[in-house]
Amino acid sequence: MSRLLIKHGRVVDPSQRLDEGLNVLIVDGKVARLAERIEDKDAEVFDATGLVVAPGFIDAHVHLREPGFEYKETIATGSAAAVAGGFTSVCCMPNTQPVNDNAAVTEFIRGRAGEAGLTRVYPIGAVSKGLQGEELAEMGEMVRAGAVAFSDDGKPVHSSYLMRRSLEYAQMFDVPVVNHCEDPVLAAKGVMHEGAVATRLGLRGIPAAAEEIMAARDVVLAELTGGKLHLAHVSTRGALDRVREGKSKGVAVSCEVTPHHLALTDQAVADSEFDTDTKMNPPLRSGDHVEALIQGVLDGTVDCLATDHAPHHADEKVLEFDLAPFGIVGLETAVPVTYDLLVRKRKLPLRLFISLWSCNPARLFRLPGGTLKVGSAADITLLDLEARATVNPDRFRSLSRNTPFAGLRLKGWPAATLVGGEVVWRRERR
Ligand SMILES: [Zn+2]
Ligand SMILES: [Zn+2]
Repeated sequence: MSRLLIKHGRVVDPSQRLDEGLNVLIVDGKVARLAERIEDKDAEVFDATGLVVAPGFIDAHVHLREPGFEYKETIATGSAAAVAGGFTSVCCMPNTQPVNDNAAVTEFIRGRAGEAGLTRVYPIGAVSKGLQGEELAEMGEMVRAGAVAFSDDGKPVHSSYLMRRSLEYAQMFDVPVVNHCEDPVLAAKGVMHEGAVATRLGLRGIPAAAEEIMAARDVVLAELTGGKLHLAHVSTRGALDRVREGKSKGVAVSCEVTPHHLALTDQAVADSEFDTDTKMNPPLRSGDHVEALIQGVLDGTVDCLATDHAPHHADEKVLEFDLAPFGIVGLETAVPVTYDLLVRKRKLPLRLFISLWSCNPARLFRLPGGTLKVGSAADITLLDLEARATVNPDRFRSLSRNTPFAGLRLKGWPAATLVGGEVVWRRERR
């Protein structure tokens, strides 16, 4: 029997309303006991003096790129990046090659994740075959193979008919449909947020309305079907208002916001002189939208945070702004970026911060985890709220380096990550 005793930490577990100095005894990968003082001469001791001990963080939106784009990221390198960012679980999007639209690909992903043996990886299956937006994929067989949700992310589900059918069908398995909300005709090949900055820079804009229109449609369809709807990477005031309205009417709608949409505005495109690491979809928005997102986090409209980790090779991102692919990596910067902004600067209570990264995504996607209750798997994120460090992409575990946060000095970093009671990553002392 393996025994690990985490001593002298501050346990913050919102699922049990805990915030106190406790020892945590882990036996055979599960939380066995929480108490003020535990002595166990057979247990290995992990000294957590000065650290917060939280239920493992979950990133409900990542792109691991395997199969098909292993030069950007593999399941192994993405898993290493995840645990180095404090994440004990991730949900990966299906826009691989081949697309994860059938059980064989879902099983392949789970197999590769098992071989990597670091973070837990939960595949999200495609809504439509080949992400073509025409015919529903084999959702039932993917659920049986381990898919936890459905999405055509990278693309919106353009057809209202297909969106309706997917919400109806996913309901049979009690899993959410995750939509990337963007009216593709209205977005019309835009490369950044439509507004004063885009006009000044002479770049084609993506209007906020393109997101709000599809968010509004999806909430209507969720109400019609009773299905579970989750809106990916909400970036606009209007889309968030639609979520808020839906919730007030009892519609089963939830949403996530990314660290970059909270921390940066479209001005970053100008300030960085067209650095393509400020190009993502949805785009960085203007200050008014960003403030609305922060308010949405503070008032509880936003259910969880998620990175939309989207690795790209340096050779792809080195293109002109117009031509470069959308997306940035996020796993290894998400926790300090959001802690620094939300808890330090905007005074979000720590327990709510932990809920946004752990308890809430576990509940929405019905994943194990999100709690340190006795008997649950010992997936634990340790945080050092006093640690200061500078974001250094050269040290990323991810295969890709496309981050707009390089050189940023932040306070509050993950210190160690435990999955099933195993220490799978520990921050080096510096
Ligand atoms: Zn997306
Ligand atoms: Zn995405």
